[in-house]
Amino acid sequence: MNCGSLSWSWSRDRLFSFCPRAYWLYYHGAGGGWSALAEPELQQIYRLKKMIPGNWWLDQLFSEALRSTLPFSGKGFAAAVSKLFDRGCGQIRRRDWLQDPGTLNIAEIYYSEIEPELFLKNSRRELRRRLEVLESSPLPQILTQIGEIDRCLLQYPCEIAVGAVTAWCNPVIAWHDQGQLLFLNQLNPDSERFSATLQCVLAMQKFQIPPSRVGFVGYNYETGEFREFSAKALEISITLADIEKRAFSLNPVAFMPNHENCPSCRFRQYCADVPEDQHPIYSA
Ligand code: SF4
Repeated sequence: MNCGSLSWSWSRDRLFSFCPRAYWLYYHGAGGGWSALAEPELQQIYRLKKMIPGNWWLDQLFSEALRSTLPFSGKGFAAAVSKLFDRGCGQIRRRDWLQDPGTLNIAEIYYSEIEPELFLKNSRRELRRRLEVLESSPLPQILTQIGEIDRCLLQYPCEIAVGAVTAWCNPVIAWHDQGQLLFLNQLNPDSERFSATLQCVLAMQKFQIPPSRVGFVGYNYETGEFREFSAKALEISITLADIEKRAFSLNPVAFMPNHENCPSCRFRQYCADVPEDQHPIYSA
């Protein structure tokens, strides 16, 4: 079985730890499943791949609104979030994913864990709360100082060469500030050293800016937790070596299931429908 070249990202790493089979289905098994002419089984894998948990959708709304609201203002940001939310509400109510499996499909609704209207009501309330949390954090003060000219245009997800590995990271935004390049990320203590290290390499590869002039802002959309740090705190070569090692470990001979995580897995419908010995993993 050939699973292509070596790729690594924190999400890939996390999904592989969750279940190697889920990793295979997500990154390899769903290929071509977007086509109306694809086999129903392939379409099912693709549909499940594109589905997202509700709280990821809310995170996505914040990231997308932050990327589109420059110069930043509290009102402009709230309006952008609201517009994106309303668009998503329409997609969820119309079940657009039935026609186009690439459009918004919320896992909890798909698996009948919650009624769509109740989900939307709870989500609207949660977004309002997150906007209040943001307002009382130090982040708006930083964002209002970023001019359009300071902004770094990035192509998401950002691709970075790490030796033989193609690595990916997904900063919310990046901007120049008094000779420094700053990255805003969703705060996550587990992934922080990886994302910050990859962004240092990105700064070098794309903008020729050395790590001594790179800094980071981390913000948790849910709790409002906030953290600033500079690249000086990073052990860049050690982390890059770790990324290469981890990338190699994502390509095992067999993508064994981790049944412990089936109850919360996006692919549980597929794994329940298709007998294990008929998975394409074994026929590829
Ligand atoms: S349902 Fe279970 S075995 Fe199947 S991909 Fe998910 S975690 Fe792995």
